[in-house]
Amino acid sequence: MAKRVPQRMCVVCRKMRNKRDLLRLVRQDGEIRLDAIGKMPGRGFYVCKDPACVEALWKGRRLEQQLELKALEPAGKDDLKAQAMAEALRWQQEQAATLLRQQRQAKGETTILLPDGRQVRRVVKDDNNKPL
Ligand SMILES: [Zn+2]
Repeated sequence: MAKRVPQRMCVVCRKMRNKRDLLRLVRQDGEIRLDAIGKMPGRGFYVCKDPACVEALWKGRRLEQQLELKALEPAGKDDLKAQAMAEALRWQQEQAATLLRQQRQAKGETTILLPDGRQVRRVVKDDNNKPL
């Protein structure tokens, strides 16, 4: 049975997604933080760990409006964007790596470590010539 994953909505694209596929931003004592654990107290909202959604959120005054703030200090805003973007890019790489691994597994490829430390991928077959 599949475990129920909490769903949250991205404020940019309005899609419901798994909580772990979203970044949470939280306003705490007038400061905005990236909530890495998803449990920080304060007024928070979610955005996809997708560079496109992060980019869109930082355009114009969207972030300020979301947080009901008059203004954000430009340096702080840039810094926060860099953090959010780094998270989004890492997530994107993870997704790509997972997809690649699944495709290789579907093809029956196995990574073999050679004695000299190199890694090669081969399709390992059983006696009936079927991928293992
Ligand atoms: Zn989104």
